Amino acid sequence: MVEYLKREGRIYSKKVEGAFLNIPREYFIPEELKTEAYIDTPLSIGYGQTISAPHMVAIMVEALDLKPGQRVLEIGSGSGYHAAIVAYLVAPNGHVFSVERLSELAEFAKRNLEKAGIDNVTVETGDGSQGLEKYAPYDRIYVTCAAPDIPIPLIEQLKDPGKLLIPVGRIYSDLYLVEKKKNKIYKKNLGGCAFVPMIGKHGY
Ligand code: SAH
Repeated sequence: MVEYLKREGRIYSKKVEGAFLNIPREYFIPEELKTEAYIDTPLSIGYGQTISAPHMVAIMVEALDLKPGQRVLEIGSGSGYHAAIVAYLVAPNGHVFSVERLSELAEFAKRNLEKAGIDNVTVETGDGSQGLEKYAPYDRIYVTCAAPDIPIPLIEQLKDPGKLLIPVGRIYSDLYLVEKKKNKIYKKNLGGCAFVPMIGKHGY
């Protein structure tokens, strides 16, 4: 799978390749779908939600330009897989804070992260459309569900300098890279993507 993602140009840095090789995706997938763990496709994790396709995780972690020591906020823990890849890239001193709306999935993510031996992720149940004020600010924020617009609290909880990645739009979403630099906000459209909707105060 990693060779395929490299050939497709989704993985282009050694560090992201290392993360994909070290985090087994099968730990984050329901038992009955384990044989499909290394196919480049989203898979059901129950409750109408999906673990993102590996190429989407690769595109996002490459664009986030993660470095050891960073504090990262994820909105939408789901299976915990994406958080595990990010946690690997910010280790040893960095930390991922992940917010999940559905308590059953928050528990699922916690169990999977424990199985994978990842100890620098904190999963919280709540409405991530409002960010996670108590651990802010963050060097990086990324959202794994599609929002109607960029929620203001996420921009407020981003450090300066800092980067935020977020899918915007309900049926056809675009992935936006938002950069905060010297008190200014820059937005760049990285292209089309498909995510489940963000449900919440600043969601749908
Ligand atoms: N990153 C995940 C993919 C999760 S799918 C993985 O690697 O498996 C998107 C998740 O976002 C779903 O679990 C959904 O319940 C969650 N979600 C939707 N709206 C949310 C909100 N407002 N706050 C937190 N999580 C939300």
